[in-house]
Amino acid sequence: MIDEPDSLKTKFLDRRDELKSIIESEKESTRPVALDQQRMGRLSRMDAMQSQAMSMETKRRREIELARIDAAVKRIDNGDYGYCVKCEEGISAKRLEIDPATPFCFDCANKSEKNR
Ligand SMILES: [Zn+2]
Repeated sequence: MIDEPDSLKTKFLDRRDELKSIIESEKESTRPVALDQQRMGRLSRMDAMQSQAMSMETKRRREIELARIDAAVKRIDNGDYGYCVKCEEGISAKRLEIDPATPFCFDCANKSEKNR
């Protein structure tokens, strides 16, 4: 069962606000690591760099999700939601249920994975 576009849009907007505030609140932890030789041993420097790399990756994923949600909201506004942006076929309800922000139908998503 797919949500009505309006309630779906509300959900997207809520999620978008949530993501934006998380990204904002995590700006602190993604600052470059200060490689202070005096204060940090080699191992703790590596720890700091590793945890920074992880938080950068998380941030990157959140920004991607944010962009997908933005695009999905635009498609709802244009009346294009639920249709593949590539081949313009309808996206299956099941697929939208699993990933409401997906811009591609199953076939196109698979093809673009392979082309990468
Ligand atoms: Zn398609």
